[in-house]
Amino acid sequence: MTKIALVPGDGIGQEVIPVAWDLIGSLHPEFDSFQVEVGYARWQKSGVACTDDDITALKSADAILFGAITTPPDPCYQSVILGIRQALDLYANLRPVKGDNVDIMIVRENSEGLYSGIEWREKDRACTVRVVSVEGSRRIARVAIRLAGERGCLLTIGNKANVIKSDVLFRDICCHEAAKAGISFEACYIDSLALDVLLHPARYGVIVTTNIFGDILSDVAGYLVGGLGMLPSANIGDRYALFEPVHGSAPDIAGKGIANPVAAIRSGAMLLEYLGFRDDAGHIEAALQAVIGRGIKTPDLGGTATTESFGEAVKAELGI
Ligand code: NAD
Repeated sequence: MTKIALVPGDGIGQEVIPVAWDLIGSLHPEFDSFQVEVGYARWQKSGVACTDDDITALKSADAILFGAITTPPDPCYQSVILGIRQALDLYANLRPVKGDNVDIMIVRENSEGLYSGIEWREKDRACTVRVVSVEGSRRIARVAIRLAGERGCLLTIGNKANVIKSDVLFRDICCHEAAKAGISFEACYIDSLALDVLLHPARYGVIVTTNIFGDILSDVAGYLVGGLGMLPSANIGDRYALFEPVHGSAPDIAGKGIANPVAAIRSGAMLLEYLGFRDDAGHIEAALQAVIGRGIKTPDLGGTATTESFGEAVKAELGI
């Protein structure tokens, strides 16, 4: 039986994941789901945000649907999502940005870079080590090359090799792998790329880049398609997979019932696609388009729908 781990997490994760799961679970009542409570709220209650047993439970699932987790600026608190990505070696973060005249897949290296977790505080400075390895760069390059090949599109390698030496390595490995694969590719500096993606989005197909650049670039590109409430993502490794909205726990709107669940629903659709239910993912996307097209939208898109009423409208559109 297919086992799905549900991790609502903190803030609006608690609101959007139930809506997304209601839909996915209705489409696939044969799925067996179980909930894993990790995050800041648990840390506040117990002093522990995520245990080894939680990681073992997550590893027992065929796929994970994840909301968002608050990371307070507290030096004693370790980011839970970073810990999960590292423990499950979810090295490829796929962040599709799709809308009118935009169809970009951002492929973010997810296991090293500036999010290596190697950091320390000294008396008068703080240091974080930015790790770029040959193997880490090669495996993410190969994911991006495969996707660009499947889509028959340009591969753009986002980097800052003009200033950061570790990016020389990243860029060179990506270029080498792309040339070997015989696909069309270019290398671009990430700062000018961020602007050009907004100016000429139709030019781009697959963009591969390092951890923090991919994180920032995907939020920037969200501007093209209605903001953070619209962007899903997949965190994929060789053995495990976790699907989550790009957005965070949004404390400013948490508890109000107005969070946009599209990103979470689309993350659920990516989960279904990963498990082989490609048609379902297509039906969900069509239903989302139809509902939004009728003007049913949450306030971030200029509408008055609530998180729940939007989810109900999508279910009705799907006939479930
Ligand atoms: P955020 O994504 O939570 O929110 C940024 C802005 O976008 C806010 O104004 C918010 O209201 C809005 N927004 C986000 N998602 C929305 C949605 N679905 N519908 C409507 N509006 C939405 O980013 P932030 O404010 O920088 O971070 C808040 C917390 O989330 C922080 O503790 C941060 O560390 C955490 N975070 C977690 C993850 C994760 O778990 N993967 C990712 C990003 C941020």
